[in-house]
Amino acid sequence: MDYNQLAELLFPHITTTPADMEEKYPPRNLPEGAKVTRFAPSPTGFVHFGGLFPSTVAERLAHQSGGVFYLRIEDTDAKREVEGASEGLIRTLATYGIHFDEGAILDENGNISDKGAYGPYKQSMRGPIYQTYAKQLVREGKAYPCFTTEEELDELQQINKKEAIKHTDWQAEAESRRAEMLARRNFTMEEVKEHLAAGHPFVLRILANGDPEKKTKFTDLVRGALEIPENDEDFVLLKSDGIPTYHFAHAVDDHLMGTTHVIRGEEWLPSLAKHIQLFAYLGFKLPKYMHISQIMRLDENGNKKKLSKRDMGANMDDYTGMGYSPEAVCEYVMTLLNSNYEEWHAKNADKPYTDFPFNIKKMSVSGCLFDFNKLGDVSKNIISRMTADEVYEKLCVWAKAFDSDFAAELLADADYAKKILAIGRGGKKPRKDLATWVDAKPYMGFFYDKYYALVDSYPAGFDNADIKAALTKFLETYDAADEMNVWFDKIKKIADELGYASDMKAYKADPSAFKGNVADISAFIRVAVTGKQNAPDLYTVMQIIGEARTRERIEAQIAALN
Ligand code: GLU
Repeated sequence: MDYNQLAELLFPHITTTPADMEEKYPPRNLPEGAKVTRFAPSPTGFVHFGGLFPSTVAERLAHQSGGVFYLRIEDTDAKREVEGASEGLIRTLATYGIHFDEGAILDENGNISDKGAYGPYKQSMRGPIYQTYAKQLVREGKAYPCFTTEEELDELQQINKKEAIKHTDWQAEAESRRAEMLARRNFTMEEVKEHLAAGHPFVLRILANGDPEKKTKFTDLVRGALEIPENDEDFVLLKSDGIPTYHFAHAVDDHLMGTTHVIRGEEWLPSLAKHIQLFAYLGFKLPKYMHISQIMRLDENGNKKKLSKRDMGANMDDYTGMGYSPEAVCEYVMTLLNSNYEEWHAKNADKPYTDFPFNIKKMSVSGCLFDFNKLGDVSKNIISRMTADEVYEKLCVWAKAFDSDFAAELLADADYAKKILAIGRGGKKPRKDLATWVDAKPYMGFFYDKYYALVDSYPAGFDNADIKAALTKFLETYDAADEMNVWFDKIKKIADELGYASDMKAYKADPSAFKGNVADISAFIRVAVTGKQNAPDLYTVMQIIGEARTRERIEAQIAALN
């Protein structure tokens, strides 16, 4: 077979050569050790939590090494493409600190455009580049056209499968697949000419030369040494519309764009044999690979399951509504990605996660477990270290979008809100009340008359008359100008007067000698003023809500206890 002639027949419109491409996209001029990484999503929907993983790793490795991190849009499957997905993806990733140096970007009008010398960065725009290499492979006898239509192929495969399943004869299936492949490889130039003349579409297949009995040694940077069986499958390189498959586009793009480290999901590991073969056929240097494990979650029965698209927490856009701040999510991702992150963070609490020396060797091979409780803990720590001003600002942004009613209250008196948010902040052991912005209203709502309500009941074991007596006495001497000690001494005095122990030691020695103790008196007042048994320091609460409101609430409670 005259392969040059075949190449001309199949790709008459391609006049460029691989050498032209190499000239147009020369190797990058970067310092020793600089890594070039990319995120290469298919724009088929939202950013999955699992997608934040490889992209965070890729971003860290590139930027930590003074390299380049770029975005390539893998839109070769038009059927699965979702309108606006690329734009949404860029915005979502930016929310989580993932910024690209190069690649597909959003221009000022919010449209996708290109930045950098290695574009186009959208695969659908790179047809002639792929076809240039495809033509070369045909010239070298490493790829061939296949005119069997997709439908015919599907049908054949279905029949083979059904037969094999019926007879549980896997060897027969393998043999029939092999026979099919050999038949495909067998064609004449005349046949090709006839097909082309009749306008029949074709796909371009690789002519696989591997022997699966033979294994190639391969090192994955996360998984270590692996043995990969050689590829013997004539997989498709170009679909009938001239658009490449993932495999072919991966080889051509990552080569021309100078990717040094391919960081992708472990679902691509089974395709690695194809990629190794393809890079060798094309004469490209194989990049380094990291196959990242999928994110798991525990189901109701405590079994590990893949975090699927529909699971809570899968869609990164949901986190905003759930009230998580991006800092918390990023830090949580780091704790999942690097086992020593938490230790580092404990020692460097005031440093951003981007200062952490990310280490490939500390990555888990077995798959990380997604856990909202853990995310909540990380988030509580982060919010507890923010200033009241910061919390106020972020809370308002969230509330404006998701709870306009609450936002109106917060915005009506910023000083008041900040005083509330300042409670228990700034010390060595700050309060950790908020994991999300959603938690804010239940925590601090009682400061606003609009949300104040008796959520908890009074401590058990006391009747209305007891509670009323204590509350009434409190109002008799309450003075908002009192220092904390004076204020508390007054409460102790009430305890003594009403037969409660003001001294906890005495109470513990003989509880039966008292009606209760001073903590019960405080609890009556706390429930009356805040509506809750658990609230921040009562003295501070009263200082913030003020004397008038305090009295009003306690009076209303006394009346209600009648
Ligand atoms: N488009 C592929 C995907 O979304 C990219 C995999 C890769 O990073 O190479 O799975």
